[in-house]
Amino acid sequence: MSERKKDFLRKIVEEDLQKGKYKEVVTRFPPEPNGYPHIGHAKAISVDFGIARDYGGRCHLRMDDTNPETEDPKYVEAIKDAVTWLGFKWDGPVRYTSDYFQQLYDYAVELIKMGKAYVDSIDEETMRELRGTVTEPGRRSEFAKRSVEENLELFERMRKGEFAEGEHVLRAKIDMASPNMKMRDPLLYRIRRTPHYRTGTEWAIYPMYDFAHCLSDYIEGVTHSFCTLEFENNRELYDWILETLKVKPPRPYQYEFARLNLSYTVMSKRKLLELVQKGVVSGWDDPRMPTIAGYRRRGYTPESILTFCEQIGIAKANSVVDVAQLEFCIRDDLNPKVPRVMCVVEPLKVTIENYEGDVEWLDAPYYPHDVPKEGSRKLPFGKYIYINRKDFEENPPKGYHRLTPDQPVRLRYAYIIRCKEVIKNDKGEVVEIIAEYYPNSKSGQDTSGIKVKSAIHWVEANHAKSVELRLYDRLYRVEQPESIDDINPDSLKVVKNALIEPAVINEKPDERYQFEREGYFYADPVDYTDEAPVFNRIVTLKDSWAKKQQKQKPSPKPQKEPAKPQPKGDELPPMDTAQKERFEGYKALGLREEIAVTLARDEALASFFEKAREAGGSVETVAKLVTNEVARELKKEAALSFGPEQIAKLAELLDSGAISTRTAKEVFEAMTQSGEDPETIVEQKGLRQISDPETLRPIIEEIIAQNPQNVAKYKEGNEKLFGFFVGQVMQKTQGKADPKIANRLVKELLKA
Ligand code: ATP
Ligand code: MG
Repeated sequence: MSERKKDFLRKIVEEDLQKGKYKEVVTRFPPEPNGYPHIGHAKAISVDFGIARDYGGRCHLRMDDTNPETEDPKYVEAIKDAVTWLGFKWDGPVRYTSDYFQQLYDYAVELIKMGKAYVDSIDEETMRELRGTVTEPGRRSEFAKRSVEENLELFERMRKGEFAEGEHVLRAKIDMASPNMKMRDPLLYRIRRTPHYRTGTEWAIYPMYDFAHCLSDYIEGVTHSFCTLEFENNRELYDWILETLKVKPPRPYQYEFARLNLSYTVMSKRKLLELVQKGVVSGWDDPRMPTIAGYRRRGYTPESILTFCEQIGIAKANSVVDVAQLEFCIRDDLNPKVPRVMCVVEPLKVTIENYEGDVEWLDAPYYPHDVPKEGSRKLPFGKYIYINRKDFEENPPKGYHRLTPDQPVRLRYAYIIRCKEVIKNDKGEVVEIIAEYYPNSKSGQDTSGIKVKSAIHWVEANHAKSVELRLYDRLYRVEQPESIDDINPDSLKVVKNALIEPAVINEKPDERYQFEREGYFYADPVDYTDEAPVFNRIVTLKDSWAKKQQKQKPSPKPQKEPAKPQPKGDELPPMDTAQKERFEGYKALGLREEIAVTLARDEALASFFEKAREAGGSVETVAKLVTNEVARELKKEAALSFGPEQIAKLAELLDSGAISTRTAKEVFEAMTQSGEDPETIVEQKGLRQISDPETLRPIIEEIIAQNPQNVAKYKEGNEKLFGFFVGQVMQKTQGKADPKIANRLVKELLKA
């Protein structure tokens, strides 16, 4: 910690302690028990618990349980397990917002008595209308005139359950014209008749997040309340409630940091629940899930996840982290720790003709020479062995270094063999190899003088154990998955009869292994038995996705295909005349057909597009933004919080290269929340893309200076480290570096 640059949250905490604002740091991790915690929560856990630990303070674990419909004790358990597994201890008992329901109720009564809260009885629709828009002030409901007495009486009756859901709500009386929509008389309480998993039917009303959170923090003596950026606009309300109630100091303050987003991953609990409910995965702990339970079952270590959280740092602007960085962390963690053993995934029988006598037991170290660990096992070798099907080629391509009819190969820790005969079945497939071994070529005592180009792994036939391998890969096949359609169909391959050397089952030197040349594996904690061993692939040895991506993307393309008009198989009615006319017009503008169709068929979208086009930006960029982002937003919300001019401005920012496509998404998100102009958001959040090589150069030079080992490895040919360096640049610049320029400079400077 000490060597690294301090993040902005730690700076705040340090300053508060120095100034004596608080005697001790108290933080909290406040999940809602409505799903299993995911890797994003791991990040929040590492912030909340990590900061408390670093400054000798305390961190509470608080279930933020104010929504009876979605909460469940099984999720409470999952959250406790996750925090514990990551190695943190919460201070005192687990806390629950539901424990404070009475206190919170009393605070609400106090607000009513002060004339700062009222019971409103308008329907939701009217309430939305009266709230106004970002550009227009709202109007107050007529019920705001209710007397304190009437409010007190109604509120009590709400509590007792005398009304139906939706009949009344309690609202704070703040400012219907506030530029911050959250301050326009926000809801404090609503009626819910579903029994709560802890308080049963005791309460018919439940506090809203904004009301409950700041007060729960205060009740617990929390000093620093860290949350993610979506809550930025809630901060004013957080402060308003505590100030209006004139709580006795010291009181807590809220600070926001960027949430973690990962490529190839969905993270919202709602979407994860959908995967579980639809049976896309086997459960919350399916090893492909980005839940902590999933990573744990897959074989990730807590250390690797914490290192990852530390590496990505704490930023003030949202960005998407490449999932390859997480995979890098787990490899990096396991590499110096775990034993190497041999497992043959696709067995091909080899009979060694000239081998006589019993099985020979060879010595084989578990750890390679540069791992500071000792231990070895006996490895049986005999007349019948299995090698991997892919390690033999009858007609080898150029550069093939393994066994061929003309090329001998070394069996790792054993002897050199040579192929004498290839046996095939009637379909022409190779089913067995008859080989010869060189008795004087034993590993470590080789006097044969035979040159081989590589060593392959193998197992002895009679002692090998049959095992099931579950080869996990990324759950989604696209960088920014949106729906179940984006699931990677190859995210799980089951290999039923792989063969493993006996020591792994008999001696169990560890739970995690490197199966040489195959990947890192973990004995599945649920299904493994010695009779029917099951191993999960934690991660491959190399990043196979980096290559795939390059192949797919010869030139930088938009990150996402535009929304397709309709899912396949769902016939659309033919276009009417107006639609056709629009369609032709858009094509004449040079728009791609899918985009033109999407716009032409949707009048609202088309009209939005035309207004935006007039306001500025290139046709192509505006069309892309409208068909992707605006279309999605129009589906969700009745009223948009932004207009065509703002989309035009966003397009201009993109066109001029001031921001990247990735950043544009973030700016768009912020626009949907605050309705601010894109330029303002870009400036406020400091999102301008860094394209100036002279700004990037010193950053890259520093990274190179700080990672001499990785530089050396890269120079020795370990090319996957290139991604590490670019990743570091993106991290240091909080995702703002222009990726093309960063790539070019990294390449250039690494060569130097
Ligand atoms: P989701 O939106 O993924 O369903 P959530 O924010 O609703 O998650 P909570 O249970 O409310 O989940 O979150 C508990 C804490 O974890 C909050 O402080 C929240 O800000 C934090 N958190 C949630 N997701 C992330 C993330 N992706 N990155 C960092 N922190 C996160
Ligand atoms: Mg949420």
